[in-house]
Amino acid sequence: MAGDAGGRRGSGGDSLASAVPPVRGADQVKRLEGALVLGGGPAGAAAAIWLARAGRQVTLWEKERLSHHKICGEFLSWEAQAYLGDLGLDLAALGAVEIERVRMVTARRTVEGRLGFTARSLTRRVLDAALLDVAAASGATVEHGVAARELLPSGEVVAGQGAVKPGALFLATGKSNLRGCMRDGEGTLNQQLGFKAYFRLAPAERAALAGHVELMLFKGGYAGLQLVERDAANLCFLVSPERWKACGGDFHALLADLAAEVPHLARRLAGAVPLLDRPLAISGVPYGFLHRPSGGDSIWRLGDQAAVIPSFSGDGMSLALHSARLATGALLTGRGPQDYARQLAKDAGGAVRRAAWLQRMSGREGWVERVALLPGVLGLGARVTRLSGRAVRRARAV
Ligand SMILES: Cc1cc2nc3c(=O)[nH]c(=O)nc-3n(C[C@H](O)[C@H](O)[C@H](O)COP(=O)(O)OP(=O)(O)OC[C@H]3O[C@@H](n4cnc5c(N)ncnc54)[C@H](O)[C@@H]3O)c2cc1C
Repeated sequence: MAGDAGGRRGSGGDSLASAVPPVRGADQVKRLEGALVLGGGPAGAAAAIWLARAGRQVTLWEKERLSHHKICGEFLSWEAQAYLGDLGLDLAALGAVEIERVRMVTARRTVEGRLGFTARSLTRRVLDAALLDVAAASGATVEHGVAARELLPSGEVVAGQGAVKPGALFLATGKSNLRGCMRDGEGTLNQQLGFKAYFRLAPAERAALAGHVELMLFKGGYAGLQLVERDAANLCFLVSPERWKACGGDFHALLADLAAEVPHLARRLAGAVPLLDRPLAISGVPYGFLHRPSGGDSIWRLGDQAAVIPSFSGDGMSLALHSARLATGALLTGRGPQDYARQLAKDAGGAVRRAAWLQRMSGREGWVERVALLPGVLGLGARVTRLSGRAVRRARAV
């Protein structure tokens, strides 16, 4: 997949000097009349778009200079698609593929069912770049290659050699914490390691996978496999650190070990060609984290900075977009970050808690076979681990 979407240079890689003056004293701090959004993932980009469309001044800093791959299953639920449509993205034109069915696979069994909606999948490299393009076209100042370093108690944000004091601060740095405004908890399930790789599957395997998302469960973790644009397949998985260590910290040995346990995975990967030089990896994801609203809330925490839902739900991006919708709606109607955080916790709390519980249970020997593969349980599990349709419709109507 490397090179597929073509790395694009940001619009303002060298504009940091103009945005942020050197810090020498209080008078050196630049004041930003409008909002500052830190992070150019779905949460940050969506917030910038909605603020800019409402005529607000908004600047977005994204630390990466170029569009890039991210660890993600790249499954777009209907809620995420609804928000992306509102934001003006044409997913079909970007190459997104459709997914109608889910297969749950263990070492011994496979159960298949309808998703109940048409999901789509698209690489984050293409999706996030498209969102930032829309943000810029909507009037937001999008600055690539600018990494925020710290939030000072005075409300100034430090980046590189300088600092700015924005009118409103939106924290959308994903899983990365920012000094001065760390998360107020680290979730409940943060030991697993995450990996993502793209493959060109053998034609028969590609055909068998088309239209499906496959969830494969194994000891110490699970994997998601689905097609993305340009006929590539995304294999994204979480695994215990013990299993990673037992494979000598070697990705190919780990894949072979997983395939030996789950014959379905072995079949899918037979003759597959890796498309990245090396896989992407992540550790310490604070699954189950939910920001607790407090009177001291003065910044707008979006996306993974507000809530981190276990990955198998495939709802992290819709949560990120929902948070951006609620937060910008609150700001534009004169309400504050605490009000917004309360609403988000109400909308997302149940799904995050249920998904975290299911993720814990799936690690218990035999539980998946005994319970999760029973008829109807798959669909129920998918419904209770996502944002409710009512919450999304209410937020979109504002
Ligand atoms: C293994 C795994 C699989 C997943 N699969 C799915 C899935 O299939 N479907 C789904 O919907 N969700 C999935 N998710 C969740 C989803 O990826 C996240 O919930 C979503 O990306 C959150 O969006 P965000 O905008 O909050 O953060 P991000 O998308 O992480 O964006 C944050 C941005 O901030 C930038 N940044 C970071 N620090 C700074 C800084 N200091 N200054 C400036 N910029 C900064 C980063 O470069 C990044 O571009 C998965 C997550 C994992 C870990």
